[in-house]
Amino acid sequence: MNAIMRFVKGYTLYELLRGMQVTGRHLFRKKFTVQYPDEKTPKSPRFRGLHALRRYPNGEERCIACKLCEAVCPALAITIDSVEREDGTRRTTRYDIDLFKCIYCGMCEEACPVDSIVLTDIHEFHFEERGPNVIDKAHLLEIGDKYEQQIAAARQQDAPYR
Ligand code: SF4
Ligand code: SF4
Repeated sequence: MNAIMRFVKGYTLYELLRGMQVTGRHLFRKKFTVQYPDEKTPKSPRFRGLHALRRYPNGEERCIACKLCEAVCPALAITIDSVEREDGTRRTTRYDIDLFKCIYCGMCEEACPVDSIVLTDIHEFHFEERGPNVIDKAHLLEIGDKYEQQIAAARQQDAPYR
């Protein structure tokens, strides 16, 4: 019976007609193709892109050099050096992230007790040689300063689910 059905289907081009039917059904429907980079798709507030270090509104760095992010990073991408300040608090003197090693898992962000290291929704960046792939503290703070509003808005949006 199966052999007969196969013969009939093959003879009548049934599979081809079925395929054309599917094509025809989608021909006039709204297209899903996005004309990137002119068009962009919406991004989740949890999107894990380029890193940033944040400050408090008074300009003080949030990071307290606890090194939890460095310890939790599965790719060993974070390198931190720190000193104790005169007031007894600790601050980093070096905070490097090697973006060639980073797998954008977001564990550094999850581990940070003060919401200092975050992953922004910036994904349009690339490196053409070794060197700039290691992003230092000054650069991370610069990104944090520049996109603070965006970062804070994303975190607020995600707050009910955390
Ligand atoms: S996102 Fe993941 S891999 Fe990248 S620095 Fe953070 S913990 Fe490490
Ligand atoms: S970024 Fe956060 S987790 Fe990492 S050292 Fe600073 S305070 Fe600790």
